[in-house]
Amino acid sequence: MTSLNDLPSVEQLMQTARLRELTALFGRTLTLNALRLALNEGRVTVRAGDSSPSREQLSARAEFLLNEWTRPSLQPVINATGVILHTNLGRAPLSHAAIQAMQSAALGYSNLEYDLTSGKRGSRSEHAESLLQKLTGAEAALVVNNNAAAVLLILSALAKGKRVVISRTQLVEIGGSFRVPDVMKQSGAKLAEIGATNKVHLRDYDEAIKEGAALVMRAHRSNFKIIGFTEEPELKKVIDLAHKHNLPFIDDLGSGTLLDTAQYGLGHEPTVQESLAAGADIVCFSGDKLLGGPQAGIILGRAELITKLKKHPLARAVRADKLCLAALSATLLHYLKDEAPREVPVWQMISMEAGPLKARAEAWRAALAQGSVVESESTIGGGSLPEESLPTFVLSLKIKSPDKFLKQLRESNPAIVARTENDKILFDPRTVLLEQDQFLVSILCSLLSSL
Ligand SMILES: *Cc1c(COP(=O)(O)O)cnc(C)c1O
Repeated sequence: MTSLNDLPSVEQLMQTARLRELTALFGRTLTLNALRLALNEGRVTVRAGDSSPSREQLSARAEFLLNEWTRPSLQPVINATGVILHTNLGRAPLSHAAIQAMQSAALGYSNLEYDLTSGKRGSRSEHAESLLQKLTGAEAALVVNNNAAAVLLILSALAKGKRVVISRTQLVEIGGSFRVPDVMKQSGAKLAEIGATNKVHLRDYDEAIKEGAALVMRAHRSNFKIIGFTEEPELKKVIDLAHKHNLPFIDDLGSGTLLDTAQYGLGHEPTVQESLAAGADIVCFSGDKLLGGPQAGIILGRAELITKLKKHPLARAVRADKLCLAALSATLLHYLKDEAPREVPVWQMISMEAGPLKARAEAWRAALAQGSVVESESTIGGGSLPEESLPTFVLSLKIKSPDKFLKQLRESNPAIVARTENDKILFDPRTVLLEQDQFLVSILCSLLSSL
């Protein structure tokens, strides 16, 4: 029989070399908390009639708890799903230049809001603004926290208490928490939805505008498609109509690509340049969808309107931080230098050819000496180009208990997320970064050998 008296005291254990080491690594308070918890658990064991844990066991338990408590909750994940802009996995990976720019902005001070020429206060929005102007020809630009914030700011500043004309075909919900009608309500603007679910005509816009409105808006459908008996007037015609009535036209492009997706074997995604060329007064889109940069909401358009946005109290609440601006500027530079398809990971992935993808999947298969390489499809994700896919080759593994295996993959270090199809587990090389290949193979090897 053991008794509670057999358990060492906190003080005794804290004197041991092992606990001193842990204290140096994790700090005294946290180490004490872990040790007390380990001892409490020990008491429960003893009271239940079991033998008391040894000093080594107690120290090991404390160390385990300390490691658990201090492990970063946000961990790197190998994305083998083939979904390029996977919102749950953090959307766009950044280019090396963008990461470097963030690092130098983070390490020290910067001229974030300081004009180095005059020595006076500067503006944070200048950093990305001039690049955006050069890239798109827009008069002015503003960068905010994300595109949801951009829409909220635009509607709050330009349409509070007034009607906003928008087609019923565009009242989209994105990722569960962003619904165009809800954002509109939050901004204080009044929704004037027009047309039917499948069709909207120019005369619908005309009638709604004549009943009074602050602006006309388009929201990109992003994650769904309307097919069949459908109709929507040409963008240019709607914009011209808005202008005829002296109303600004706002285009929420969602993924807002600067490159033409049609050149990469995909459907055509409306580009930022097209929207501006058609006469949109304000265009907004995400920084971390097809642009391939950091999370941001990018607003472009007429200077007079952008100035109103900049002066609105919400602008301060939703402003972009310096790390975002650093990464965004570096990403935009890739486009300005015509090197985006080579340097921006999202575009590298989109432009990968089936041949090299097949070779990588084959190399994985050869290293594992099991599975097969089969044709499959990668998708864009992130509310871009639904129904569109890119041909790829995947490693397909047939595993007895696929759910258990997927869980083991998720719990490996780094975690691996794959997809299943007909009880097979598929690994798509398109979204696995080249430098992650060896991790993927070695984790798969060790998991498969312990099956
Ligand atoms: C994705 C999307 C948003 C939200 O953008 P976030 O950058 O995720 O806040 C808003 N509108 C449209 C049309 C979208 O596709």
